[in-house]
This record gives sequence, structure tokens and C-alpha cells, in this order.
Amino acid sequence: MKNETIIEVKNLVKKYGDFTAVKGISFEVYEGEIFGLLGPNGAGKTTTFEIMETLKDETDGDVIISGYSINKEAEKIKTIIGVQLQAAGFPERLTLRELIDLFASLYDVKVDSIELLKKVQLGDKVKSYVKDLSGGQKQRFSIATTLVNKPEVIFLDEPSTGLDPQARLNLWGLIREIRDSGTTVVITTHFMDEAELLCDRVAVMDEGNILQIGTPDELINTLLKKGFKREKLEKLATLEDVFLDLTGKALRE
Ligand code: ATP
Repeated sequence: MKNETIIEVKNLVKKYGDFTAVKGISFEVYEGEIFGLLGPNGAGKTTTFEIMETLKDETDGDVIISGYSINKEAEKIKTIIGVQLQAAGFPERLTLRELIDLFASLYDVKVDSIELLKKVQLGDKVKSYVKDLSGGQKQRFSIATTLVNKPEVIFLDEPSTGLDPQARLNLWGLIREIRDSGTTVVITTHFMDEAELLCDRVAVMDEGNILQIGTPDELINTLLKKGFKREKLEKLATLEDVFLDLTGKALRE
């Protein structure tokens, strides 16, 4: 199957005063994949993300999403992407259902808010307030808000930070479902297990540059071909496996 490009980042540069945070990077995201932007603190991930989301202006270069340029057609791009708000950004006195309806009215679209909340396993919380949700529930609600306008692409910045292993597994399931229903997903993460298990392709970024792009397997094989060997053979189970074996995979909320 041919990979269709949905996002094309072209020679993107971002300067803050004299400091260049993003140094002319180029990459493509394919339609229907989960694409991960990885990198240490300060690599330039959030800056790149916010430019793609049309929340920040670029200094030079361009991003084309579904044929539209962030330079010239940012308003159009806003209608075909889904962007996450932090939980603290939601109006406090509205229930989850009312918030979804509010988002729908802002986008000028009709949405079945109960159906959407069921999709993210919050069907029993439609009358709850964001402040009363667990961390995992808040994250799933915030993802639901990105889906209101039936976007072609959603952007999730560090989606599993602060979640317990059960909530993380559950969130990965939700993100895969969103991809499988045809929405491209772009995430940033610091968790390499998340990148390896969840992302179809990843880009590794550092100091404003992209160092490598590929599927997790391709990147691992490139390293192995260079002769890399782990000092100790990995144990066949991890502490996370122990934790999940003891406490189960079911969500606790
Ligand atoms: P983290 O993983 O810590 O979120 P990041 O990869 O997302 O890091 P950015 O937040 O994009 O990195 O920051 C890249 C660089 O740009 C950092 O050195 C940061 O200090 C700098 N930077 C980010 N925003 C600004 C700003 N508004 N003004 C000046 N410098 C900034």
C-alpha cells in the first residue's frame, strides 16, 4: 500500500530572539498512522508541535496539512485538526456533556455528545465535572474534545504522562482505535516503550534537528547493524509486567 502524505514539514525554522529552537527540519507524516516525535527536554518538540497546530508562528519554512499551508491557510487547517487543551483550560462549571456541546458549537458542527463520551469510556460520566475525574479520565475526555470536529489529524502532547500502567494501556487502546477509524495521530512522548509499542513511525529530535525517522523496528535495526549490543541480556519480563500481573489490566478509576 502506498503511503499518502497528510503532513509535510518543509525546512521549518523557529527562532526565539537569537536562539534557534528548530533548525530547518523536514519530515512527512502519513495518512492513518500514529507518528511520534521523540526527544529529550528542550529538543524543540513542543515548538514544532505548536507550529503544526497553528498556535505559534514559524520563523521560516512551511507546514502543509492535507494540502493547506500554515502560512496562508491556517484558518482552514484549524477546521481539519484536533488540538488538546490541558484539563485546567476547561470552564469549571460545565459538565462533560455540556463541554462537548460547547466545543461543537464553537466548531459549528453537530455532534452526539453522549456517543462521543461513550467512545472514550466516559458514558457514565456525562453529568460529571472535569475536576472530579481521575487522571486517565481527564486525558480521555481531553482526547474526546479533539474529535468533536471529526478531524483528519489529532495532536496529543505527552498523552500518557502521569497515568498508571492500567490507564496507559487503556489510553493506547483508545489511540489505536482512533487511528483505525481513519484519523492520523501525532504524539510527543518521552517514554520509549510508548514510542516502540504505540507508534507506527517515529522521528528522533535533538537540539532543533531531526536525527532519524523510521518505524521503531527500522531504528532498532539500524543501531544493531552498527554493532550495538546490550551489556546484559534483557530479562524476559519487566517490573511493569509484574505490576500488571499483580494488579490486573482493568482500569481503576
Ligand atoms: P520538553 O520535552 O521539555 O517539553 P521540547 O522538546 O518540547 O522540550 P521546546 O519546548 O520546543 O522543547 O523548547 C525548545 C527550546 O526552545 C528550549 O531550549 C526552550 O528553552 C526554548 N524555548 C521554548 N519556548 C520559548 C520561548 N517562548 N522563548 C524563548 N525560548 C523558548
